[in-house]
Amino acid sequence: MIWVAAIKTNMVCIFCKIISGESPAKILHRDDLVTAFRDIHPIGPTHILIVTNRHIDSVNELEPEDESLVGHMVLVAKQLAEQEGIAERGYRLIVNTGAHGGQSVFHLHLHLIGGRLARFAIE
Ligand code: AMP
Ligand code: ZN
Repeated sequence: MIWVAAIKTNMVCIFCKIISGESPAKILHRDDLVTAFRDIHPIGPTHILIVTNRHIDSVNELEPEDESLVGHMVLVAKQLAEQEGIAERGYRLIVNTGAHGGQSVFHLHLHLIGGRLARFAIE
């Protein structure tokens, strides 16, 4: 049982530490599958991370059975966008993947960014 828990979390991962309560964060939502908290370096008035409770390095490690988990992440983002009052004007949902995708924390997460017009363009 302990071994099973160990493969689902990564003791040196900052997001696993936030999920376990070992590291602080401004948590906005928590359920069986995901935890959402404010990004420590926001790039917009609203910048929230929706993070899988189970440690998954990135999109590259997703399996077919994770389909509903990924859908749930998006629905939680939608709910948080409504809560933040940014749903009507719009927002960005971003999942950076790997070095070329700009991923810096290797624990799957969805960025919810909004509150002003997104300035950057997709290159
Ligand atoms: P990414 O570059 O897509 O991997 O995004 C990682 C995000 O995690 C960045 O926007 C960071 O600002 C954010 N971040 C890193 N450490 C923390 C932390 N301790 N609490 C909240 N957000 C964090
Ligand atoms: Zn982790």
